[in-house]
Amino acid sequence: MPRPIHAFVHPAALRQNLERVRQAAPNSRLWAVVKANAYGHGIERVFDSFRAADGFALLDLEEAKRLRALGWRGPVLLLEGVFETRDLELCSSLDLWHVVHCDDQIEMLSRHKTQVGHRIFLKMNSGMNRLGFPALRLRSAWARLNQLPQVDEISFMTHFSDADGSKGVAAQMAQFELATQDLPGERSTSNSAALLRHASDNAVAADWVRPGIALYGSSPDFPEHDIAHWGLQPTLSLRSQIIGVQDVQAGETVGYGSAFKAEHAMRVGVVACGYADGYPRHCPTGTPILVDGVRTRTLGRVSMDMLAVDLTPCSNAGFGTEVTMWGVSSKGTALPIDEVAQAAGTVGYELMCALSSRVKFVDDQTANQAE
Ligand SMILES: *Cc1c(COP(=O)(O)O)cnc(C)c1O
Repeated sequence: MPRPIHAFVHPAALRQNLERVRQAAPNSRLWAVVKANAYGHGIERVFDSFRAADGFALLDLEEAKRLRALGWRGPVLLLEGVFETRDLELCSSLDLWHVVHCDDQIEMLSRHKTQVGHRIFLKMNSGMNRLGFPALRLRSAWARLNQLPQVDEISFMTHFSDADGSKGVAAQMAQFELATQDLPGERSTSNSAALLRHASDNAVAADWVRPGIALYGSSPDFPEHDIAHWGLQPTLSLRSQIIGVQDVQAGETVGYGSAFKAEHAMRVGVVACGYADGYPRHCPTGTPILVDGVRTRTLGRVSMDMLAVDLTPCSNAGFGTEVTMWGVSSKGTALPIDEVAQAAGTVGYELMCALSSRVKFVDDQTANQAE
């Protein structure tokens, strides 16, 4: 038998989260962001649940091909645009819309031979200083694109650096609006944080919004707000089993480096999940975990293939008992990925994307819902 660790994707939760972010911006069209293989979930596994989106946004051409192979004929946006001239052939043949964020990409486009005009999202750098034209150069970039025969339609987009924090989006939004105000074309703004925190007060107005993480049941501004606050549900559960039990006496230690020392006699469960599965080694003693749907804590250091848990609150647990590292237990208890990520000093995004290939996915058609 293979090791008992598995990942479960919950289609009903994906659908419900999509519905939830739609409510945040009911008048905008919505790109479901599926970069990084749908935040580690697998594009093929989320596709059906996200069919109600208006388009899919990603940045890897191989992933764009997979979307077309699934039969998606609607809009697909390449968030970083093309990396080399050859990529433009695929944009033409697969009808991919693409971001243009620098002069090099305009140059490539001007040399591209195509029968079909391309749909471009011209990216403005409104303060993030990652990709995009600064306000002063946006107009000339637009003018250049506008006279290229290769270009059919130009839209504008920008990306917020602080939608999840106290700085907010107002200054960047004002820059974006000022720089584009008299130019024709649709506008795209707003990741999950901007949508959930700022769309309701009309701080962001956009024809297209681009949520990612919220669709996957992780709060973009945890710990200020958790997924329950935002009405989101876990979409990915990582579950394994107890494969060993130790009765530890007061004063004894658990695991490498003797990092945990028992203060009193206790039962310790050993779980088939380690950092080689993508569970963060940084998680210290006390990281929340579910045993048989009951919340308990990890003990000591995470090793490559195993970790230890405190069985004090779960006296019936033993060999073969289910353990949920994050997500929803088969009994329906939820443990948001954000709590585990926080214990590891990171964010839900990283944990989702870091699941290792040795963790096999299991279809969850029963769709365990969080309580
Ligand atoms: C990843 C990404 C998003 C989605 O961000 P989330 O925080 O996951 O909602 C939106 N826009 C761009 C340009 C991105 O790269």
